[in-house]
Amino acid sequence: MMTEDDGVHPCAGHVHDDIGIGFHRCSRNGSYHEEGKWWCKSHAPSEVKKRDDAREKAWEKERKEDKAKWKRHDAALELCEGVETKTLKKLGRGWLSKHLKRKGKR
Ligand SMILES: [Zn+2]
Repeated sequence: MMTEDDGVHPCAGHVHDDIGIGFHRCSRNGSYHEEGKWWCKSHAPSEVKKRDDAREKAWEKERKEDKAKWKRHDAALELCEGVETKTLKKLGRGWLSKHLKRKGKR
């Protein structure tokens, strides 16, 4: 069935077996021809790269968000320095975020 003649090509990629012990040949048909081999959509080098890039981008975004979070955290600490916990509790989180927002615009 899978001969070169009828246009069906087994994917050259490898996948983990169901129990995750070993690799076996991907059983999907290759519809991408890259680097001299046939690949299915999830194993084509260009598609793998696309996914890697997307993951990298997601990471980048997460790192940026993390940095922003810590910046806010530091600002909050600075803002609350010397203020009694009791007082802070009374003021509540709304007060803090309002002040942080103002601080961030500076
Ligand atoms: Zn594949």
